[in-house]
Amino acid sequence: SSLRAILASGRPRIINDIGKYAREHPLSESTRRIVEEGGRSSLTCPLIIEGNPIGFLFFTSRRIGAYRDLHQDLFLQIAALVAVVIDKSQLLERLIEDNEKLAERGKTLEREAAVDPLTQIANRRGMQAIIAAELARAAERALPVTFIMADIDHFKRVNDTHGHPAGDELLRAFAHRLSHALRSGDRIARYGGEEFLAIAVGADAARGVEIAERLRKVVAGEPFDLAGTKVPITASFGVAAGAAPADNGEALVAAADTALYAAKQAGRNRVMTAA
Ligand code: GH3
Ligand code: MG
Ligand code: MG
Repeated sequence: SSLRAILASGRPRIINDIGKYAREHPLSESTRRIVEEGGRSSLTCPLIIEGNPIGFLFFTSRRIGAYRDLHQDLFLQIAALVAVVIDKSQLLERLIEDNEKLAERGKTLEREAAVDPLTQIANRRGMQAIIAAELARAAERALPVTFIMADIDHFKRVNDTHGHPAGDELLRAFAHRLSHALRSGDRIARYGGEEFLAIAVGADAARGVEIAERLRKVVAGEPFDLAGTKVPITASFGVAAGAAPADNGEALVAAADTALYAAKQAGRNRVMTAA
């Protein structure tokens, strides 16, 4: 309460004899403690920034009457400087906090930008980073690498017959089946509308065809449940095997795409390899 009066006045308060003050204010716990610690006089300056009280600067001396009135202006000036320093450091703290939040948000956005919201697997952008990482892994260990491009057969008919939401549902289920049919080290992304790209490090062309066949079978083997209707679906697959760094990501994607086109031409629901 006495501090509130100091804030209201905007002026420092000097107590020349704290012992006497303590006797006159027997309920003041803080005064009692100061006396216990040997304090005999004190000067209390309000810290005010742009009219807002932010705290107090408290001086205490072991001598009675250490702070005479002529100290007041000097201490008010010191208090003004300290208040500015505190204000600036609080501002800096807030800035640092805001910066950290922004950096966190940036990371989240970065992650979200690499993931397809419908299927929750990597999107084409995410796949660019995956391709680079997987090719580096293959090159480092001198392993072959296989790219498999998958495309749902007559997907447009699903949209036309069962509606766009059912088409979306199929995309989700298709991505789920493919993901689960791959080994844990292999990667998959939604590369385009109903096109998916899988990468298997350590797989040569023959192994790549085996993997693609497995994927083809998990799709064709059982109809998809689209809003209660069982819909038989097939997909076509193009396989391109290579070795990093001779075969780069773009070349392997293009080769897998060409093989996929050949699979479509040959009648769909099949696996074809790049020539
Ligand atoms: P093909 O066997 O030759 O691959 O025939 P298709 O009908 O699968 O191929 P096409 O490229 O003609 O059609 C692809 C369709 O995929 C057209 C497009 O409307 C649809 N599509 C693309 N993205 C989405 C999506 O996010 N949701 C849904 N429901 N449909 C999509
Ligand atoms: Mg298609
Ligand atoms: Mg397509």
